[in-house]
Amino acid sequence: MKILITGANRGLGLSLAKEALEEGYHVIAGTRSLNEAATSNLTVLKENYNAKLDIFHMDVTEEASIEKAAQQTKHQYGSVDVLINNAAILNERDKSIEELDLAAIQKAFDVNTLGPVRVIKHFLPLLRESSSEKRAILNISSEAGSLTHTYSGDYPYGMSKVSLNMLTEKLRVYLKEDKVKVLSIHPGWMKTDMGGEKAPTNPDQAAKDIMKIINDKIKIEGRFAFINADGTEREI
Ligand code: NDP
Repeated sequence: MKILITGANRGLGLSLAKEALEEGYHVIAGTRSLNEAATSNLTVLKENYNAKLDIFHMDVTEEASIEKAAQQTKHQYGSVDVLINNAAILNERDKSIEELDLAAIQKAFDVNTLGPVRVIKHFLPLLRESSSEKRAILNISSEAGSLTHTYSGDYPYGMSKVSLNMLTEKLRVYLKEDKVKVLSIHPGWMKTDMGGEKAPTNPDQAAKDIMKIINDKIKIEGRFAFINADGTEREI
């Protein structure tokens, strides 16, 4: 089974790549940059797991890089089984509406919402070629993207993630007949560059839980496609 992960070079993306490799899957790791500093963590994984890891340049804000990665994947493998839209930014933290630079909202939408749109646009044809029963699109979202339990601050991030959740719902309806699992997942507050040191959970645990969702070891039920990493439903 081939799993594509964006933002795979650090944080949750790196943990997901490691866990998927541990479980014997083939990982296509997308990274914003292919320079050594950015890819060194993945190079170590590649040494350990050899042919099971490809590192592709995928800046989710550049459609051409996504299209090229999809073409490379098609040429090399013909299909992909799981798409994980993980790459994201959390910018202009704690700024009030009066202080906000509107360009920051555009930037957050470009990475966090349009990024997954670009990836799905170009990789969905490859997902349709998959014969796996575990076919899935997992959008890594956030509790910050919940309309029912929102908080003040993080305007760019929260607005972009709530839109990501709408994308998930729309795709869930669109792909129902195709039996593709489409989910938005809040991975929990994790110790990463984004989550900071005070976070109670770690990305390795979240990655293990998310792999259980992919492997159908956790059954997802509920009205919406927005869940926690342990499979429990979140209010959208
Ligand atoms: P990090 O900040 O640790 O890592 C973010 C990743 O996204 C990096 O690999 C980064 O690449 C990549 N990225 C950023 N911009 C782009 C881009 N334009 N193109 C491609 N890749 C890009 O974040 P986390 O690992 O903590 O977060 C992973 C996911 O989990 C995100 O979707 C986040 O919103 C979500 N989340 C995280 C929480 C937490 O507590 N950490 C809580 C709730 C949700 P680069 O190294 O090149 O910058």
